[in-house]
Amino acid sequence: MKITFIGAAHQVTGSKTLVEWNAGRYFLVDYGMEQGENPYEEAEMPVSVSRIEYVFLTHAHIDHSGLLPLLVKNGFTGKIYATAETENLCSIMLADSAHIQETDAAYETKKNLRAGREEVQPLYTAEDAANVMKRFIPCSYNQMIMVDEGLNVCFRDAGHLLGSSYIEFYLSENGTGRKLICSGDVGNLNQPIIRDPQPRTEADYLLIESTYGTRNHEGTGDPIPVLVDILKNTFRRGGTVLIPSFAVGRTQELLYFFREIKQKKLLPEYHDFPVYVDSPLANEATAVFLQCSSECLDEDALRIMKEGTNPIWFDGLHTTVSSDESKALNTNTETKVIIASGGMCEGGRIRHHLKHNLWNEKNTVLFAGYQAAGTLGRIIYDGAKTVKIFGEEIDTGAEIRLLQGISGHADREGLLGWLLSCEVMPSYVFVNHGDDDSCEGFARELSGNYGLQAMAPYSGSEFDLLKGEWIRLTDPVRKKQASPVNTEPSVRKKDSPYRDLMNAVQDLKKYADGMEQASNADIRRLTEGIRRLMD
Ligand SMILES: [Zn+2]
Repeated sequence: MKITFIGAAHQVTGSKTLVEWNAGRYFLVDYGMEQGENPYEEAEMPVSVSRIEYVFLTHAHIDHSGLLPLLVKNGFTGKIYATAETENLCSIMLADSAHIQETDAAYETKKNLRAGREEVQPLYTAEDAANVMKRFIPCSYNQMIMVDEGLNVCFRDAGHLLGSSYIEFYLSENGTGRKLICSGDVGNLNQPIIRDPQPRTEADYLLIESTYGTRNHEGTGDPIPVLVDILKNTFRRGGTVLIPSFAVGRTQELLYFFREIKQKKLLPEYHDFPVYVDSPLANEATAVFLQCSSECLDEDALRIMKEGTNPIWFDGLHTTVSSDESKALNTNTETKVIIASGGMCEGGRIRHHLKHNLWNEKNTVLFAGYQAAGTLGRIIYDGAKTVKIFGEEIDTGAEIRLLQGISGHADREGLLGWLLSCEVMPSYVFVNHGDDDSCEGFARELSGNYGLQAMAPYSGSEFDLLKGEWIRLTDPVRKKQASPVNTEPSVRKKDSPYRDLMNAVQDLKKYADGMEQASNADIRRLTEGIRRLMD
């Protein structure tokens, strides 16, 4: 009986952990995709995919679920256990992720073919994502599920995202039992809509995340008065509040806040203000939230529903924004809120809205989440005077604000609070899902201040759950930096297509500049061509 740490080891994304039980049988906890910069190589899975019998999924975020279509494509034929809400969110999020994979591959293929190179295959397709959904077994919280001989599990609410769980594994081998808890992502206290994390239960071993293992959240007060203030000031100037937002979770929290502002008449002079959600994925996710089981909802949300009100719906909410309506939003002058994806302004419809709204000092751009270094969101938030969007220089004249205190993750205090919510301490704590500082710092705090045996293992490390000792502790393997010259398009960084687009736009500009002496008919033909392209 052993646990092998594969993904999210000294990194924040790509969660995947392999567990062997009953002498040679295997299951996975999460199978997530790496997102953003991850410094270390992942160890290879020590067993073939066909030997993995189950996946237990803590929640739907892509860094925990995003490689499931690849697992199925590579021959996984077992069952995936998760809560019904996680299953429903995965059905839209994996389809969206597959669409991104296919679009990226099609783009690279086009370029490769022109250069006499081979086609690029997507990591997985919409069909692979659809095949994943056939393998799900929906589970409820707090019910012991007899999965197989020597393998019982129980999902508990982790309070991080709709349907998120920490999972208890009751394992046995030759009559000897061990209990392992995998935390998934531990939620922040007092998030709207969903419940707080359930207290931790007793266990022999605990695998705990450490995203904020050494940091506490700032500004954890009530976000509603801040939001009211921002809306009032912007509307007085006749402006728009533009919110770049993650489609799943954060958007629905914002809708909850806007419903509350309207229901409590906190903005009487602008009571009818419209809110447009310009993101197909966000609107699909809102539909999943609207259908969720009552066991996922916190007391406030349940009370609001009992009073006959929908907690994330209100007059003036527009969730079916077609591409034409999306464009029209940028020409109408009504005071309004636009919530658009993506959350860090790296892609999605938000870039169009920024182009049309960021320059205007009447407007406010309100960030509602963490902006990673290097993203357009972070550059704007850090106070750049101008930014380039679609090749155009855009002034950052709008008011720039950040809505604090709405993280989905427990901070250092929250993680400790959850860990200490059960008096009986585990005999060993494994720390993952945090960068070097966070996971090591948190493990040090657990051993130094709480006397626990704790460690943040690198990918490939193995621990014997019966004997309670390490089988193998691996050294970190740093990823090779991609060479900046002669990089093959298929392995280029994600932002490269965008850079290529900018180059193409500049070429077009040069071409158009040279048309001054051309015939009017040729100029008109080119103009029409460009207009058609833009449509
Ligand atoms: Zn998560």
